Amino acid sequence: MSERTMDESQSIVRIFDTTLRDGEQSPGASMNVEEKIIIARQLEKLGVDVIEAGFAASSEGDFESVERVSKEVKRPMVVSLARAQEGDIKKALKAVEKAKHPGIHIFIATSDIHMKHKLRMSRNEVLDAVIWAVGYARKHIDYIEFSAEDASRSEWEFLVQVFGEAIRAGAKTLNVPDTTGYAIPSEFGKLVQYLIEHTEGSRRVTWSAHCHNDLGLAVANSLAAVANGARQVECTINGIGERAGNTSLEEVVMALKTRKALFGVDTHVVTEQIYPTSRLVSQITGIPIPINKPIVGDNAFAHEAGIHQDGVLKQKLTYEIMTPESVGITGNRLVMGKHSGRHAFSERLTELGFNLNKVDMNRAFLRFKELADKKKEVYDEDIEAIVAEEILRLPSRPDRYELLYLNVNSSSSAIPSATVKMRVDGQECMEHGTGDGVVDACYKVIAKITDSHSKLVRYTVKAITGGTDAQGEVSCLIEDGGVRVSGQGSHTDIIMASALAYINALNKMEYRKHCRELVAKEGP
Ligand SMILES: [Zn+2]
Repeated sequence: MSERTMDESQSIVRIFDTTLRDGEQSPGASMNVEEKIIIARQLEKLGVDVIEAGFAASSEGDFESVERVSKEVKRPMVVSLARAQEGDIKKALKAVEKAKHPGIHIFIATSDIHMKHKLRMSRNEVLDAVIWAVGYARKHIDYIEFSAEDASRSEWEFLVQVFGEAIRAGAKTLNVPDTTGYAIPSEFGKLVQYLIEHTEGSRRVTWSAHCHNDLGLAVANSLAAVANGARQVECTINGIGERAGNTSLEEVVMALKTRKALFGVDTHVVTEQIYPTSRLVSQITGIPIPINKPIVGDNAFAHEAGIHQDGVLKQKLTYEIMTPESVGITGNRLVMGKHSGRHAFSERLTELGFNLNKVDMNRAFLRFKELADKKKEVYDEDIEAIVAEEILRLPSRPDRYELLYLNVNSSSSAIPSATVKMRVDGQECMEHGTGDGVVDACYKVIAKITDSHSKLVRYTVKAITGGTDAQGEVSCLIEDGGVRVSGQGSHTDIIMASALAYINALNKMEYRKHCRELVAKEGP
C-alpha cells in the first residue's frame, strides 16, 4: 500500500459492534436486558466506537435494551437499527434519546431480488423511501448511518444513486452489507472502491462494511473493504450472528494490528480486553468458542503450553505473529484459593468485567467459597462460571423451577436411573425414572416434573479448567414451538451441571413464553 498522508479519520478504522443486535440473531443466543447491559459495559471497556444495541421497533424487549444501554455507556456511540419507515425511526429515536452519543441506523434493501420479493417496491420507490427516511431522521438527530441491505447483490449503478441520495439527505456513514455472505474479497474490495469513486459527496462520509460469514469470508471481505477505503467495520464478538455469523471482531482487529504496516490504520480497541470479552459473551449466550478459533480459541496459542525450555524463546519469535498477552490471555490464570478474601474476589470480578451489586456479590462470594473447598485452585474461568451460574442466569423474575435434590444410579450392569426433587411454583415434587444413561434419565425425570415438551437440540460438556476436580460446564439448547433457548450449568459434578443447565433452559423458556413478543427479525 502506498504512503499517504492521513488525518485521524483516515488512519482510524471505527469498530461498530453489533453483538447485541445481529449477534443476538444467532439461533439460541437471545439475551435478556440485564445480560445485554453487562456485555455493553464490557464493550465500552474494550474500546469499540459504536454499539448497536438492538432494533428498537422489533420488540418491547429490544426497545428497552437500547434505552438501557443508551443510559449505561458513556464513550461509545449507541445506535438502534430502523427500517426506512416512520414508526421504526420514531421508536429508534426515542430509544437512543438518553445516550451521550446517540445515533440511528436506517436500512432498506437495494438488490432486485429483495426489492421485488420482500419489499415489493420499484427502484424509484426505494430511492424515495431513502430520501424521505434519512431526511426525516435528520430533523431529529445528527448521526445517521444508512445501509443498503444486500448491497453485494445490488446493481452498482443503482447503489451509487441510493448512496448519493442518502448523503444528500444527511447520512454520515454509508454501510455496504454483504447480507447473505455471498461476496468474494477481491470483488467486494472493488465494489467499495467503485462506490467511493463514483458516489457524489463520498469523501465527506465514512464508508463501512458489514459482512456475513456464509462462505467463511466475512473477515477477509471486511479487510478488503478497509484496503479500499472503508473506515468502519461492523462485527460481533466471536463472530456470532445469524447462520454462519458475522465478521469476528477479534480477528479483524488483530489482523489490522498485526499487519499495521500493510494497512496503515489503527483501531481504538484495547486488545488486552479481547479475551475477557470473548469469554463473557460465550458465557452469556451459551455459544461455545471453538477450540481452533483464531485469537480466542483454546488452541490459538497452544504452542505456548508445554514448551518450557530456554531455547524456545527464539523459536517463539519464529512462529508467533502476536502474543497471547496482547489479546488478554495471561497464561497464568490461577487466581485464588480457599484463603482468598472477599476483597480480592471482588477486585478480580471487576477485572473480569463484572460489576455486581452488593447482594449479587455476596451470593457469588458464597458460591466461590463453596467451590474453593472442593477444588484447590480456582481459575478465572471458574469465577466466570460462578457469576454466570449465580447471577446472569436469573431472569428479572423468580425462576419457576428449582432443583432441590438429585440422585442417580449407574453401573455397567443396571439400567441407569435418576431421582429428582424440584420446586415448581413453590410446590415440591419428586419423581423417579430411567434412561439410556444417567443424563438421559435425569432429563426425562425433569421433563416429567416440569411437564415440558421441549426438544433437546444440543448438549455440550466442557471441563472449564484442567484436572479431575475441574468444574464441568454444560450448555444445552432446547426448542419448543419454534423458540430456541440455551441454558448453562456448571458444577464439579457433571450430572449436577447437566441438570442445572437443563433447568436453566426450561426457566428461560418459561420466561420467553411469558413475554413473547412480536419480533420482526430482519436487517442487514
Ligand atoms: Zn447482518
